[in-house]
Amino acid sequence: MSDLMTNYARNPIELVDGKGCHVTDANGKTYLDFTSGIGVLNLGHNYAPVVNAVEKQLQKIWHTSNLYNCSLQEEVAHRLANGKNYKSFFCNSGTEANEAAIKLIRKATGKTKIVTFYQSFHGRTMGSLTATAQEKMQQGFKPLVPDFHYLPYNDISVLDAIDESTAGMMLEVIQGEGGINLCSEEWLVALSKKCIEVGALMSIDEVQTGMGRTGSLYAWEQYPIEPDMFTLAKGLGNGLPVGALLAKEKVAKSFTPGSHGSTFGGNKLAMASANEVVSTINQIDFLTSVKQKGNYLINELKTKLANCEKVLDIRGHGLMIGIELNQPVSPLITQLMEERLLVLSAGANVLRLLPALIISENELDEGINSLVNAIENF
Ligand SMILES: *Cc1c(COP(=O)(O)O)cnc(C)c1O
Repeated sequence: MSDLMTNYARNPIELVDGKGCHVTDANGKTYLDFTSGIGVLNLGHNYAPVVNAVEKQLQKIWHTSNLYNCSLQEEVAHRLANGKNYKSFFCNSGTEANEAAIKLIRKATGKTKIVTFYQSFHGRTMGSLTATAQEKMQQGFKPLVPDFHYLPYNDISVLDAIDESTAGMMLEVIQGEGGINLCSEEWLVALSKKCIEVGALMSIDEVQTGMGRTGSLYAWEQYPIEPDMFTLAKGLGNGLPVGALLAKEKVAKSFTPGSHGSTFGGNKLAMASANEVVSTINQIDFLTSVKQKGNYLINELKTKLANCEKVLDIRGHGLMIGIELNQPVSPLITQLMEERLLVLSAGANVLRLLPALIISENELDEGINSLVNAIENF
């Protein structure tokens, strides 16, 4: 009998050790990890420079609260701004980052109407759950936060629904949990223009797509837009809990002392990790290698699965890839786990691959072979 709540359907193994893209379970069986702890360990397990940075901080001071200055927060915020005029607020998770975004949208505009898109995922607390336009996640928790409006993703007709009464919108440039759905550049640019025109704020949820996942520090940087705000979490601490909201200075200044806060947010251990993570990822060579590996992975899968009628689509960007099947993927995930490859789902019929960004070409090949064999024989 477990003393834990029953809100997770857990696999019957426990991972007790990890290095790079490999993890080991309590029975000593090793696995190739294409999950990265759901897009968290972008630098792989036990990445030495991050371990060293956190160990060094561990011996000094862990936590001081936000009543005092924090030069580590300053340093991480400076790196995250990436040469632009963004200000950071630190928290502990993706859901909290999006809560902060929802509050800032309303505070900065004085308006209440917030637009999000079907199949989105923004988190589980009341505000971010309301932003998550998926009925199955909201069921049983109503009434939700008022004045959220849901529109179809990547659909140009939505422009008419965004007007002067709109405070802002929240969206992913690739919907992660919702099925690895990509939007077109044309749509994103049109949305961004419309937001500027009507004085609505655009907040991009980069919790999954950020931190190098798609081959740039943030996925939005590959489009000709500059969002008013964006949120980060998953990969930011490489396994330590940390999230962030970044907003352009003219928006961010609406948060004054007392507007918002978090006891643990920007904790020194989390910041020591994030600082090392951002400086490692945000280098041209590193990001170029992510693009190359992503292209290799998707092209190999497309070539090798071209004649497999079970595969409806293979799509993605960088090292964030979905394989859509004509049937539920959950038995396939179990079979792959038995064959020592860990993968995720996104919705019922999409296999989701989020390997660590430091993965080697040999490891990619190993994963590709396992995937192709398993899908063909499944
Ligand atoms: C995972 C995720 C979240 C929620 O993050 P938590 O840290 O689990 O609260 C929000 N948005 C996106 C796009 C995510 O992938």
